[in-house]
Amino acid sequence: MEKIYDLGIIGGGPAGYSAAIRAAQKGFSVVLFEKDSMGGVCLNRGCIPTKTILHCSDFYKNLKKADKFGIEISDKKLNYEKIFNRKNDVVLKIQKSLTKLVQSFGVEIVCEEAKLIAQDKIEANENIYQCKNIILATGSKPANIKGLETDGQFVLNSNDILNLKEIPENILIVGSGAIGVEWARIFNALDKNVTVVELAERLLPLADVDVSKRLDRLFKKNKIKFFTGTKVESINDKTVLLSNCPRKIRDKEQSDVNEFLECHLEKVSSGGSKVRGDNCDTRLDGQEFTFDMVLCAIGREPVLPQIEGISIDLNGKFVKVDDNFRTNIPNIFAIGDLVGKMLLAHSAVHQAVSVIDYITEQKQCRFDTNRVPSVIYGNPEIAWVGKTEEMLAGLEYKVSNFPVAALGKAMADDEIDGFVKVLSVDNKIVGAHIVSPEASALVQQFALMIDNELKTDDILKTVFAHPTYSEAVFESVLGLDNMSLSLPKGM
Ligand SMILES: Cc1cc2nc3c(=O)[nH]c(=O)nc-3n(C[C@H](O)[C@H](O)[C@H](O)COP(=O)(O)OP(=O)(O)OC[C@H]3O[C@@H](n4cnc5c(N)ncnc54)[C@H](O)[C@@H]3O)c2cc1C
Repeated sequence: MEKIYDLGIIGGGPAGYSAAIRAAQKGFSVVLFEKDSMGGVCLNRGCIPTKTILHCSDFYKNLKKADKFGIEISDKKLNYEKIFNRKNDVVLKIQKSLTKLVQSFGVEIVCEEAKLIAQDKIEANENIYQCKNIILATGSKPANIKGLETDGQFVLNSNDILNLKEIPENILIVGSGAIGVEWARIFNALDKNVTVVELAERLLPLADVDVSKRLDRLFKKNKIKFFTGTKVESINDKTVLLSNCPRKIRDKEQSDVNEFLECHLEKVSSGGSKVRGDNCDTRLDGQEFTFDMVLCAIGREPVLPQIEGISIDLNGKFVKVDDNFRTNIPNIFAIGDLVGKMLLAHSAVHQAVSVIDYITEQKQCRFDTNRVPSVIYGNPEIAWVGKTEEMLAGLEYKVSNFPVAALGKAMADDEIDGFVKVLSVDNKIVGAHIVSPEASALVQQFALMIDNELKTDDILKTVFAHPTYSEAVFESVLGLDNMSLSLPKGM
């Protein structure tokens, strides 16, 4: 008799493999289909390769400060090909162990492209797999943005950039979200000239305003050029057209579109490109820049499997799901990047665990984008969770902003450029915004507080180790009532 699986999963990224393990742990028979490499974007083209390269670039940057720490290094040379090879080694190692990990739970992995051919049937390599439940976890890919089409040579996306064995000197990055900022920091740490163009009024537009302002300062300090409120209109062979509209127009105080300022970026025969900013506002200031490469760090779109015989409802381009990640077909669920609810690996993993608990035990899923931490890596790290000050406008809230420079640990490490900003409503933390070493770990403490709706009095019962950056968590919460122990009175 043909085998009937309790669960079939299409996609072996963080959403798919986490769901597979969780379901197998709960006693389900599971078959998982992966057409490319286990680990999905996160392991192969996202989180892990970028953070591996970023670690190398940070390491190199720190070496430049070695003298300050009493270490004399006379000859430090950068070999990007070695960084590239190390990145591949790390990815490969994790790929192998991930496959073994998933198989250790008895999950059957089918390394083929899968097609959904009926409500309970998946086809792969001409074999048909009967499944009581199906999870679609096919992820996302870089979107092809009109006017910013990638060619893998001059205009690159986040996949292409990982294939470079050497990196050019002058780089334009389009977009100052997580991907754009991380690559800007990598290239900058590796002594390349970096220019960032952001359409919104400020860098990291989704962050709290104070975080954006600090990044602005850090970019300036590190000599990363950036233009906010600036749009790439088109790239035509050798010409990139940027339009940079003046603030007064953006603010709708004046509507004469003729005042939109344009500047031209022309690829010059030397292989570089030139921005002619003669008609630009002060941020472009009529200067000329040359670029060797453009990284398009904006836009992702879902990857849908081939579907025959049934129809899955969409929400825009993404798959439409209810609060329990169920599609319009009762036994078919969708999770991860494919559903477009915060395109992050930990968001995908959380959804995977929740959906399996729903399928196996009918536990209602609880996924609130407001409780998902965001992290931007680099030096210093940037992280946030919960509400921004802008979101609390009109409400009664308290705010505290603790500078990490007041910590003994920060002084010891010479890492004094950062802060922990906390927001509370009714003595409960509702948001935290951090620029600090270890921000990726600190933000998790606030995520726990927010998720469990802890009262500030209860938080302050916890003992925070010294000397650590965690003391900034303690101090920032104390600061909500102006009770910081490490800042002068009134600060
Ligand atoms: C440059 C970059 C950096 C990032 N950094 C971070 C970070 O630091 N932290 C973070 O949390 N997130 C980060 N992300 C986002 C993260 O990678 C994604 O959110 C995450 O990978 C989504 O997981 P997923 O399982 O939903 O989809 P994916 O990882 O996209 O996996 C989907 C899998 O499905 C497979 N598949 C698709 N169609 C089929 C089919 N028909 N049959 C079989 N298999 C199929 C694909 O091959 C793929 O392996 C980053 C992304 C990028 C691009």
